[in-house]
Amino acid sequence: MHALFQAAALHAFPNPERIGCPGRTILEEIAGLPWPSQHPAYEHVKTCSPCLREMLELRAARVRASKKAIQRRVLWLAGLAAALLLCALGLFLLRGRKPSFEELARAAVAHGSGNLSADPFIAVVDYQALNVERGHQPAASGEVMLARSTRGIWILLGPASSSGQYVIELRNPKLGNVSAQYAGTASKPAKSAADFPVILRANVDLSRVPSGRYILAWDRTGSPDWDYEAVRVK
Ligand SMILES: [Zn+2]
Repeated sequence: MHALFQAAALHAFPNPERIGCPGRTILEEIAGLPWPSQHPAYEHVKTCSPCLREMLELRAARVRASKKAIQRRVLWLAGLAAALLLCALGLFLLRGRKPSFEELARAAVAHGSGNLSADPFIAVVDYQALNVERGHQPAASGEVMLARSTRGIWILLGPASSSGQYVIELRNPKLGNVSAQYAGTASKPAKSAADFPVILRANVDLSRVPSGRYILAWDRTGSPDWDYEAVRVK
């Protein structure tokens, strides 16, 4: 309906008795149509000021409601995007962050079998379980598999073991000669309980150690009592 005609129609057809008016349900139907003139009851509405007014108000209310729905959807999507961004940021920070010695030590002890987070180059040899490693299956023989990419060996010592400087060696099991030697440090996390293991850590480089079986031997510097474990460099 032309705007001018509509403005006139709003006053031109007073119908105080509401004679022939279709009622609110029909008016809502008409208000919901993209082309109200297609509705059979529109013939009445366009010549009844109160019906026309009511129908126009219903239309306006619908427009407001759909605008609000769109706003809500936009807000919801913005919230979702923000949440996803936070998740991504969190993951990024977690990946970028190296766990502390305390965290790794607790994880090692809790798992009893390595499966340590973060650094893929840390292999953990559990002194109790003896076949513990991150990311690699122990061999059927119970040997600890040391991948060539291993850059760190952790050995969980008993809680009463001495802290301090250690020597770690890879020895040929037949000849007994030392194939590689590394310096290690044993300590407990600062806030650990008395029965928490002492953890011997050494940075190692196995890139030039030939594949095969070895004896992993470790000893506190200056002590004659070596400990041994069978390992396989892969
Ligand atoms: Zn009417």
